[in-house]
Amino acid sequence: MSLIETKNLTAFYGDFQALFGVDLVLNPGETIAVIGANGAGKSTLMRSISGVLRNDPAAVLHRGQAIGALASPDVMARGIALVPEGRRLFPSLTVEENLLVGRHGRKVDGPWSLETVYDLFPILKERRRNPSTALSGGQQQMVAIGRALMSNPEVLLCDELSLGLAPVVIKDIYAAFPRIRETGAAIVIVEQDIAQALKVADRVYCIMEGRVTLEGRPGDLDRADIHAAYFGAE
Ligand code: ATP
Repeated sequence: MSLIETKNLTAFYGDFQALFGVDLVLNPGETIAVIGANGAGKSTLMRSISGVLRNDPAAVLHRGQAIGALASPDVMARGIALVPEGRRLFPSLTVEENLLVGRHGRKVDGPWSLETVYDLFPILKERRRNPSTALSGGQQQMVAIGRALMSNPEVLLCDELSLGLAPVVIKDIYAAFPRIRETGAAIVIVEQDIAQALKVADRVYCIMEGRVTLEGRPGDLDRADIHAAYFGAE
């Protein structure tokens, strides 16, 4: 059975329709990437799965159960954690306090604790008593990932990890993913950088103007097809 499935998922902001019937499958232990240009609907898809945007119950399934209408704390309690676009750390809290916030939503034993998150991102241990605002963008992204991991999720949704970060920092962040995968978590990575997505994912979905325009394994996808699915036919 799939871990997460969206079925004919639509999303609206007021009258504006951002998603038009998105069907997506995430299998246990799998890493998928969702690629697409600015405004394609990638973040909306992540918000819809994570309960930030509520929906028809049956539009999002977790292990076959309808969760589309649940609020985000209830989705998180089921083991589906979001690393939101823009990190959204708590500025008045230290690094360690931000990490511990992830623990509150779901107190489940598993591979992740302060110790193992610090092991994954050693710089965070050094900076654990600093306010999160004192960190660089890359370090803040590590805190956002660590905070999500602290809930020992079975699904990790990562929205635009690379946004505003230098290539060398992006490399450091992605270097953590093999270890996250090893724990058995399934991962959804939203990424504008096609090459990065193809490198990290088992399967890729491309979204354009709120619709899935392409789906497949990186090795099976043709460059021209990806280009057309991402930018539209010329
Ligand atoms: P980006 O890379 O810019 O984050 P995206 O693929 O994640 O793009 P979304 O953020 O999901 O795209 O946006 C999809 C569409 O919905 C866009 O046209 C965007 O302008 C619109 N949209 C997003 N958030 C809102 C909102 N809060 N209110 C109204 N429209 C919104």
